[in-house]
Amino acid sequence: MNDFRRRLKRFSVSIKPDADGFTGRECPVKKCEGYFKIQFGTGLPGEVPCHCPYCGHTGPHDEFYTKEQIEYAKSVAMHQITGQFIKELKKIEKRPDPHAFISIGIKVEGRPLPVRYYREKKLETEVVCNRCMLRYAIYGVFGYCPDCGVHNSLQILSANLDIVGKMLALSGEAGKEVADKLIENALEDAVSSIDGFGREICKVYVAKSSDATKAQNISFQNIAKARDQIISLFNIDIAVPLAQEEWPSLIRAFQKRHLIAHKMGVIDQQYVDTTGVSPSLIGRKIEIKPEEVSELVKVLEKIGGYLSAQLAGL
Ligand SMILES: [Zn+2]
Ligand SMILES: [Zn+2]
Repeated sequence: MNDFRRRLKRFSVSIKPDADGFTGRECPVKKCEGYFKIQFGTGLPGEVPCHCPYCGHTGPHDEFYTKEQIEYAKSVAMHQITGQFIKELKKIEKRPDPHAFISIGIKVEGRPLPVRYYREKKLETEVVCNRCMLRYAIYGVFGYCPDCGVHNSLQILSANLDIVGKMLALSGEAGKEVADKLIENALEDAVSSIDGFGREICKVYVAKSSDATKAQNISFQNIAKARDQIISLFNIDIAVPLAQEEWPSLIRAFQKRHLIAHKMGVIDQQYVDTTGVSPSLIGRKIEIKPEEVSELVKVLEKIGGYLSAQLAGL
């Protein structure tokens, strides 16, 4: 029995990765409890603290076990303890002695408590951090890298703009109708990418803004308005890294996107007023060349990189 008691003191239960190599993690912060997965062995070397991708909470990895993992570990321990206990009891099991005048037998019955197995959840976005190479998976799209803590907004923007580039390349091989549609979609996706990035990064740095509500509700669909708002909120001008002619061409690309999204691509008075083209074009269909969209992609990359670096340095 002494040996049994000694064995009871400490259990070590290994938590195995899922079929994709990921181990689930759960943020210990009550308001967050965000679930994510990481692949141990990728990312920073050695034992590093874990960052919650959703709220940024940082702590040692043993704070980040999921509830299911803890239940599993407890059940494995209980399974072993009860199994061992039953085995010890069996040792004192005895049959009734047929020769004794009165004899009582002891029969030990029962099974060890069952193990509560669990399965890691499916998540929506898989990322390989471009700073520390950690492979991780999260709900949604944006988040902090659980290893190095860098926010992935710029990496996601680049990835999305890469896809825009691929759509443009495809348009070169397609017939006119499909090519036109691909170019229009590429333009819309480029604008959505900077909008998603811009909204996210303003939220990440909301504490450094002059007006938290405005920073949390900013939109980049109208880039001129976004520029003014970022100047007033963070004192950063997103046009600074651009060459002189790049800002007006950016405005024009955004206006074209507006026409495609809301006016079936037909030129209206607002487009004439904003871009200064001839009013005789009102009612005509807008034309978008693939080079315009690839130019836009380059400009948006510059803006993304600049805004990200400037906000980080505030
Ligand atoms: Zn969290
Ligand atoms: Zn990282």
